[in-house]
Amino acid sequence: MSNGNNSESGESRPSNFIRDAVIDDLKTKKFGEATIQTRFPPEPNGYLHIGHAKSICLNFGLAAEFGGKTNLRFDDTNPEKEEQEYVDSITQDVHWLGFNWDGLHYASDYFDQLCDWAVKLIGDGKAYVDDLSADEIRKHRGTLTEPGKDSPFRNRDAKENLNLFERMRKGEFPDGSRVLRAKIDMASPNLNMRDPVMYRILRADHHRTGSKWCIYPMYDFAHGQSDSIERVTHSVCTLEFEDHRPLYNWFIQQLGIFPSQQMEFDRLNLTFTLLSKRKLLKLVQEKYVSGWDDPRMPTLSGVRRRGYTPQSIRNFCGAIGVSKTNGTLDLAMLEHFVREDLNKRAPRVMAVLRPLKVVIDNFPDAEVDQVDAINNPEDESAGKRTVPFSKVLYIEQDDFREVPPKQYYRLSPGREVRLRYGYFITAQSVVKNEKGDVVEVHCTYDPATRGGNSPDGRKVKSTIHWVSSAHAVDAEVRLYDKLFTVEDPDRTEEGHDFTANLNPNSLEVISQAKLEPSLASAMNGEKYQFERLGYFCVDPDSKVGNLVFNRTVALKDSWARVQKRS
Ligand code: ATP
Ligand code: MG
Repeated sequence: MSNGNNSESGESRPSNFIRDAVIDDLKTKKFGEATIQTRFPPEPNGYLHIGHAKSICLNFGLAAEFGGKTNLRFDDTNPEKEEQEYVDSITQDVHWLGFNWDGLHYASDYFDQLCDWAVKLIGDGKAYVDDLSADEIRKHRGTLTEPGKDSPFRNRDAKENLNLFERMRKGEFPDGSRVLRAKIDMASPNLNMRDPVMYRILRADHHRTGSKWCIYPMYDFAHGQSDSIERVTHSVCTLEFEDHRPLYNWFIQQLGIFPSQQMEFDRLNLTFTLLSKRKLLKLVQEKYVSGWDDPRMPTLSGVRRRGYTPQSIRNFCGAIGVSKTNGTLDLAMLEHFVREDLNKRAPRVMAVLRPLKVVIDNFPDAEVDQVDAINNPEDESAGKRTVPFSKVLYIEQDDFREVPPKQYYRLSPGREVRLRYGYFITAQSVVKNEKGDVVEVHCTYDPATRGGNSPDGRKVKSTIHWVSSAHAVDAEVRLYDKLFTVEDPDRTEEGHDFTANLNPNSLEVISQAKLEPSLASAMNGEKYQFERLGYFCVDPDSKVGNLVFNRTVALKDSWARVQKRS
């Protein structure tokens, strides 16, 4: 899939139709001597999600590859839904992903220019003020099989339209009472060309322009012209805008301005995941999650808190490429890229989530043996550390069975196993509580097996992790599962919405995990592999003395299984 053109970081740049078009346009000098200009145009009405990452990587990736530039432009034409908080989170998230924009712009910077252009179109007889209500406009619009009907106000003359539009702008009419429409073709087979609305009357405070305006341009009248003002050569967007392209071109042609061109690619969809700001907002507002940055959210702030690295997301976006048809990718594929990147960079440590006490009867009472442990077998430069080994340890409850089932090779009475980096131990007896649960396992160790190998070549069938009880650091560990129980969270029974598909077990909190002491001063955001368990990172709620870890992703490679299945 890779076209051989790999950047230093190893991110692949698969060939695709958009890239091919760029190469072609540069070859034919479609935009003169200039190189390409792209833009990422989020509406600041929510936090960015993984789907946006695909668009960001595409826009910035293309510009970087061809020596062009990328603007960050806020498409802020819906004041009721937009807020400064979202602007701030979006700039932070784009930076976090690893990209720096050239120009930082807002569609609202162009409100004066857009208004002038509206006046020009009215003067040219290409736009008119319509007094029909929104409902009547909809009824006049026709359907895919029937042409629309002209509004009775369609043939107002330019002078009257200019006067009415000026009065709309001045605030003489109530909200929703009139609109400005482009005069195109009520019989067009493309519904977007049936005299689309350009401006509406709306008294709403805008997060940047305040109360300056009481008319706001529609997306279609703002987007292409904003591209054109910024001399965007390739305006890439998702496929649902394909039907808007003729309108995008119409405005640019009528105004005779820089010919930006729109190109559409497939939206990212992931199984078990919703990628829509509107729906994610509902989860936040109705408190199904703790906020936009809840580690179960597919937002960039959520996955950042969860422990995903920007590199892993960029690698994922590079690998999936772009196409002309929408599909849904397996969430396991994204997790595969997260694991792959963390495997290279995350130091290994030992942590016990569900502790079971192990007493080594023949180990000297007060002795502490500092054993050597390798920080990262994938990265020699990460070096080594020592881990204290002593008479009383914790292991995972899952790593001991009083009566081992078939093919269970971990610790059980009479069975010898290896304690990672430590010694071979053999379980001898158990202590139970009044309910009959094993609460303590008494073992013996073989001093000759220090470091984890037996000089006589004796083999054991399993290696388990452990933490010294006296040295252990307590921590809260938050284990996350999928936020939804079904692959397509939008598919519900009649009368329900996606919240019916929420997974009631998507968060499990372990309040008393035991960690090796090297983690005592772990800092917010640091990422580790807890050996045999998965990748974990320090949550912002964490404090020294009160550590909190998030499980980023478990170790088991579900992607490999997925691949095997297909
Ligand atoms: P949402 O439905 O989540 O609000 P949107 O498309 O309305 O998404 P915008 O803020 O308008 O969000 O999106 C900014 C850019 O990101 C657009 O060019 C849009 O096409 C792109 N984008 C949004 N969602 C996805 C996605 N799932 N996959 C790829 N690109 C996306
Ligand atoms: Mg949108």
